[in-house]
Amino acid sequence: METTAAFDGLVCTDCGERFDPETTTHDCPDCGGFLDSRYDLNHIDLARDELETRPFDGLWRYEELLPVPRTAAVTIDEGTTPLVDCPELADELGVERLLIKDEGRNPTGSRTDRGHALAVSAAREHGASDVALATTGDAGQSAAAYAARAGLDSHAFVPTRANFGNKAMINVHGGDMNVVEGRFDDAAAACADAMVDEDWYATNPFETPYRHEGAKTMFYEIVEQLDWEVPDGIVQPTGSGVGLVGLHKGATEFAELGLTDDLPALYAAQASGCAPIVEAWEAGDDSHEPWEVPDTICGGIEIADPHGSPLVLDALDDSDGGAVATDDESILDSAITVAQHTGIEMGATPAAAASGAWELAEQDVFGADDTIVLVNDASANKEADILRSHLMGKGI
Ligand SMILES: [Zn+2]
Repeated sequence: METTAAFDGLVCTDCGERFDPETTTHDCPDCGGFLDSRYDLNHIDLARDELETRPFDGLWRYEELLPVPRTAAVTIDEGTTPLVDCPELADELGVERLLIKDEGRNPTGSRTDRGHALAVSAAREHGASDVALATTGDAGQSAAAYAARAGLDSHAFVPTRANFGNKAMINVHGGDMNVVEGRFDDAAAACADAMVDEDWYATNPFETPYRHEGAKTMFYEIVEQLDWEVPDGIVQPTGSGVGLVGLHKGATEFAELGLTDDLPALYAAQASGCAPIVEAWEAGDDSHEPWEVPDTICGGIEIADPHGSPLVLDALDDSDGGAVATDDESILDSAITVAQHTGIEMGATPAAAASGAWELAEQDVFGADDTIVLVNDASANKEADILRSHLMGKGI
């Protein structure tokens, strides 16, 4: 595996052992814990003015802080998405500034492209022929696109409820799509079963160390786009937790490099029909209990058993953030409000962040001087039918 100069191995988030990324690709060989990429930050010489001289041309501009160099990248120019000021929404929420990080403008329309750029690059470096994952939809589309780019085969296991656009594009990219009766957990079980007999390279959240590694670049970009001001809060729609853990990692690394002074408060936004992270946070637990009967319109974050919950809860605690759940009606209303007041297209799933931000504002969590960022994880095109049905149902 070709790696960057400061990439210093993979460390188990459970037992703390360090492993060589050349020979270790997924979970900890000793205890099965999740692995995390580590860098020798003393040997990374990144100043603000150096970064400012670089073109804003995708996440590979942070190459020193990525495991794989640009020369070995499988890339479709992901990252460097817009951070859009929304003054009307700021007024409504009673904060100084409200901005939306529009991840819908990634190559396949979702934030998961960041993680798949890295994970599929690593897969190719490791000599994989096939990548595979269980997915609520967006990540399957992304995996199929990046596998196509790399000349690899891809296998996606999606629940029946996954949206049509995701399923269609998995096929269009030449991916092998397996629609599994039931919910996400059923798709995950089917994927695990299939992998017993196959030599496939998994790109499941946290099972590969590279999905959250890609997501961390969102934070790097946000803080540069704010002229090095760390926002007071970032609200992230949360299913498996890859986006939130990535934001925390990016914020921690920039602080350790002396590029920023503090961490933003990170907020996990879930739908109240499937909110195991919120439940664990409110109970003060350090891991979740599986959600018994998941039922939300927000299919993209309907993850009843998010295995990465200890990492998510750590990130919330370390950043002095929190977790918030709102119901489907409020979430869909928020998506419509954002579309009609800002022009930004926020899908039903990511609108959990908008709805969650409204709820946090009502709880007086935000201050009048705060700068708050909402992450729009995926384009509304993927869930336009859901939004339109909601709109027609209200007779608007
Ligand atoms: Zn371990």
